[in-house]
Amino acid sequence: MIPAPFDYVLPETLDEALQALLLSETKLLAGGQSLLPILKLRLAAPGRLVDLGKIPELARIEVRRDGIVLGAMATHASIEDSSELAKVSPLLPEVAAAIGDRQVRNRGTIGGSLAHADPAADWPAAILALDAALVAASPPGPRTIPARDFFKGLMSTALAPHEILLAVQIPRSGPGGAAYQKARQSASGFALAGVAVVLEYGGGGVCKKAAIGVTGVADRPYRATAAEQALAGKKLDDASIVAAAALASHGVLEPLSDMHASGEYRLHLVRVHCARALKRAAGLSR
Ligand SMILES: Cc1cc2nc3c(=O)[nH]c(=O)nc-3n(C[C@H](O)[C@H](O)[C@H](O)COP(=O)(O)OP(=O)(O)OC[C@H]3O[C@@H](n4cnc5c(N)ncnc54)[C@H](O)[C@@H]3O)c2cc1C
Repeated sequence: MIPAPFDYVLPETLDEALQALLLSETKLLAGGQSLLPILKLRLAAPGRLVDLGKIPELARIEVRRDGIVLGAMATHASIEDSSELAKVSPLLPEVAAAIGDRQVRNRGTIGGSLAHADPAADWPAAILALDAALVAASPPGPRTIPARDFFKGLMSTALAPHEILLAVQIPRSGPGGAAYQKARQSASGFALAGVAVVLEYGGGGVCKKAAIGVTGVADRPYRATAAEQALAGKKLDDASIVAAAALASHGVLEPLSDMHASGEYRLHLVRVHCARALKRAAGLSR
């Protein structure tokens, strides 16, 4: 459980971090919640770690007129504790609070979680449902990646090796509700199935738009588009929600299966938790 030797770099600006990342065998370090166990098990042995912890702009949480910006180094705990976020996008503190335990949330970051792309991580479901975009810095300049295009497979993302995830941009959503529901793996808290729902609804409780992000079930998080389409234009009630939730795993041909839950059980869980999240987001349950 002792990592192979590595050099440690603590840049104070983004430019310094980008330069350091150009050197071979270099890995970025956020809170170390995933990376350090990997190093200790010697599943990776980078020659150099570039710690992003001293670059102030990476830890920001900003509520703007047109949306929210979360710096990649914003910790789960800082998002959980933000009273501003609780007012404008309560889904974000809700998801943050569902991660691991408080010690993990004090160190773990939203950027580290997204870049690591664990298929059972909670944030990906939320950032998909919120139609977020991810901003990455690279030596030629920044680029923006829609959340839908970010996750490429098991622990694989659209980030290039010399890119640093800078921030998550979340647009404002219309009037409605949102909720996150998950079945937790009892030791770690990771999602056996997690469903984030953002609903926009108008008069008479009719659903204008449903956005449903799912994690824990497939090799990468996904938008449950069949379930979303089933709800659009419908009155949000128990019957329409149960019918839509039955489609939450539509298209998942090879569900994740391990010692914690079989694929079949995960498919069941995603439908159950989708219905629960939809009911809460629609104000039909607490
Ligand atoms: C006991 C335990 C329980 C947990 N439970 C949960 C849970 O219930 N739900 C959940 O979602 N997660 C859970 N986690 C994971 C936790 O949420 C961390 O956020 C996640 O492990 C990422 O850790 P980190 O932010 O410290 O990143 P690190 O471990 O420092 O880095 C992770 C990876 O991302 C890369 N990286 C980091 N930052 C950037 C960046 N800005 N740009 C590009 N690449 C970057 C690193 O190079 C590394 O490859 C748990 C972790 C532990 C240890």
